[in-house]
Amino acid sequence: MNSYTAAWVLPIAGEPIHRGSISAENGRIVDVDDRAASEAIDLGGVAIMPALVNAHTHLELSYLRETVPPTEKFLDWIRTIMSTRRQYPDASDPRILDAARAAIAEARASGTGLVGDISNTLVTAALLREASMPAHVFYELLRFNAADPESLVREARARADAAADADGNLRVSLAPHAPYSVSPGLFGAIRADLDAHPGQVTSVHLGESPEEMEFIMRGTGPWRVLLEELGVWSDQWEAPGSSPVGYLDQLGFLDRRVLAVHGVQFDGDDLDRLRSRHMTVVSCPRSNQHVGVGAPPLEAFYAMNVNVAFGTDSLASAPDLNLFSELVEARRLAPRVPARTLLESATRKGAVALGFESDYGTIEPGKRAQLIAIRVPDAVDDVEEYLVSGIMPADISWVS
Ligand SMILES: [Zn+2]
Repeated sequence: MNSYTAAWVLPIAGEPIHRGSISAENGRIVDVDDRAASEAIDLGGVAIMPALVNAHTHLELSYLRETVPPTEKFLDWIRTIMSTRRQYPDASDPRILDAARAAIAEARASGTGLVGDISNTLVTAALLREASMPAHVFYELLRFNAADPESLVREARARADAAADADGNLRVSLAPHAPYSVSPGLFGAIRADLDAHPGQVTSVHLGESPEEMEFIMRGTGPWRVLLEELGVWSDQWEAPGSSPVGYLDQLGFLDRRVLAVHGVQFDGDDLDRLRSRHMTVVSCPRSNQHVGVGAPPLEAFYAMNVNVAFGTDSLASAPDLNLFSELVEARRLAPRVPARTLLESATRKGAVALGFESDYGTIEPGKRAQLIAIRVPDAVDDVEEYLVSGIMPADISWVS
């Protein structure tokens, strides 16, 4: 058994403990206490907390770091991504793999211990396994004019199963990209696949840009133009005439196992639906700013009692994979939300959304001892506020 004591312990499952201690055995938490055990190793002026959960990133896009400049128009960003990706047609290009490997190492160095990773190629599954980074990989499908969605999903499922780990630390499911890039039939086939795999979760980019709102409401605008340009427009597709949330709800796609990523454009009715379905919104505020879609209504998410998790999104729209930096932006956008609530979003809420809550996300007996220690200056009296004020890798160490 190993015991540690520190200036602060943040179990997330309860209030911060001043001068608390933690005991672990065989990689699992045995005890959390408000007294320092006599044989405990004293870590000194640090706060011990569960590793953070980055619930939305695209590790395979890490090679695009600093290549896609900030934009005012979302479609400009999409077009740049599409044309750059075409220059790297081989998914196992060493430049893609090396950048993704470095990104995983960077995420870990900044305190992340579980990721929700979106992948169109599944190359990141092996890299996550190699790095022993627990993850849910969402094998993302895009097809606006899918002729035979059932066979598309059947083939994708076989690849997903082959990429997953038997021990459950690396899970893979299918995920639709977004309402403007996936046909109703493909949404239905992915939903049927999810229903056939009761333990799994899925994810969809939803309510990200004003252009998405226009397209789903009226079938017009820049998305329509792009789909026609790409030769994938289908005359059979009729604009749903509702919000993207209303549309996917009509399709029967939404429930607690679906992570709704972004939600920048969500209104009160959308949030009502999400709450009634017990869903989680994954917010990536720095990315939203970079791609020109505006700021997410974070305070409304919390005020409407919707579950909120955080993600960095990819290095094509975020400067780094440090989730603590995402929390700084969240704190700026949601000054009335308690720091404790933001920290819970970055840990427990993410773990629950990804289906890993029995192992990760809090410090409680029985969970994995996947802990980080953050240096906290002596003068700090509000440790939770301090932890959302900007923590850099140099201040973080892993407790092993
Ligand atoms: Zn994304």
